[in-house]
Amino acid sequence: MENLIEKITACIEKNKTEYINFLSEYLQKDSTNPALGQNENPFACHRWMKEKLESYNLFDKVDFWESGNDFSNVVAVKEGEGEPLLFAGHTDTVPVTDTQKQEWRKDAGPWSGAVKDGKIYGRGASDMKAGCASPLMAMHVLNELGIKPKRPLYFSYVMSEENGGREFGVDSIISRGYKAKECIVMEPSNNLAIVPAIQGEFYFTITVQGLSYHIASRHHTIYPHGYNVKSVPGKNAIELAVEIIQELQKLEKELGLYISHPLTENGSTTINFSGIKSKGIFSAGAEECTIRGSMLYNPSISQEEAFKFFHDAINRVTERNFWLKEHPPVVEIPYLLSTKPPVNVELKHPLCEKLAEAARAFGKEPVFESCLSTSDANYLQDHGIATITMGPGANEYGVHGVSEYVPVDVYLEAIARYAYFLSRL
Ligand SMILES: [Zn+2]
Repeated sequence: MENLIEKITACIEKNKTEYINFLSEYLQKDSTNPALGQNENPFACHRWMKEKLESYNLFDKVDFWESGNDFSNVVAVKEGEGEPLLFAGHTDTVPVTDTQKQEWRKDAGPWSGAVKDGKIYGRGASDMKAGCASPLMAMHVLNELGIKPKRPLYFSYVMSEENGGREFGVDSIISRGYKAKECIVMEPSNNLAIVPAIQGEFYFTITVQGLSYHIASRHHTIYPHGYNVKSVPGKNAIELAVEIIQELQKLEKELGLYISHPLTENGSTTINFSGIKSKGIFSAGAEECTIRGSMLYNPSISQEEAFKFFHDAINRVTERNFWLKEHPPVVEIPYLLSTKPPVNVELKHPLCEKLAEAARAFGKEPVFESCLSTSDANYLQDHGIATITMGPGANEYGVHGVSEYVPVDVYLEAIARYAYFLSRL
């Protein structure tokens, strides 16, 4: 065993220039998500990847296909015996805004892949090209050492993660036949923390109908009035929406206090409002109001339970309001993006144990964490695949921001851990 660890370490030391160059070249190919920003040639990065991986001669097949108008996927296949294991990553990045371009480190630009002070720079360095590259380079290490992982392996790369799209990304991977019961997502996990739990998420709109009235009649809409006045002369839709917002805020506090998970701090269940829009003229009470928002919830509750908490809160307002009982709010879920059910794989899952073993092999105590932001891992989990996240990089290294990088030593450590992990499959 010690022998294997020494061999892996020595092999990485010998080949590290190659491994760093692979990541640098990968970063030099602009892979801005075509739905989020300008990308002159959205297929170029994956075409380069296919050629590069074929040149290594490590895989039985490297599959590339276009998906939708601008997206593409790559899967490197290593055949074997038993249950396949899927590795999932995304090549696409968020765009670099004009302001970010100005503020970015000048000697290590967003598409430079430059290595400075022990860090590799570029948009996507941490999120998540270092993660994408790590298990591939780990396969290179094992090949040099003459070790063949037993299980069939699929190393999959999509271009449509950052826009929250699943159809042309992970769904396309699965429908092309790269099916597995277990998956590792190499998203940055605070420098190789093992993440078996990720929050669930959905976006919503709630629309309430009011009844418009002249502002001079407002007192009749809020105070008791004489028998000769119509029973409901008007109803302000914005005020009805505010009642619903307040009820959802109460729910947020309750769930924050009482719903817990061993890896997630309480209070992580949140309901965020991102927009409010009303219909009506300036001199009348609002006749319609739509609120827009999202709910992120603790991994210990299921999607069905989260939906129930949410709808029950709205129903409580409806039940106590005579107007809403007659004109119930219209709730739209999913709104914009598919809903993302939580990931909640047990800590004792064999993959968790094997990843922990790989940390210990190189003298590190494994760290288990949950993740507050969602990823393709949620969609993979939705396919019934037990999904665990572990990857080099961290949000604090400029993810979605300025001067993004990944430390060279963390990237090489990821390769070492994946090589050990793969050798034990
Ligand atoms: Zn990512």
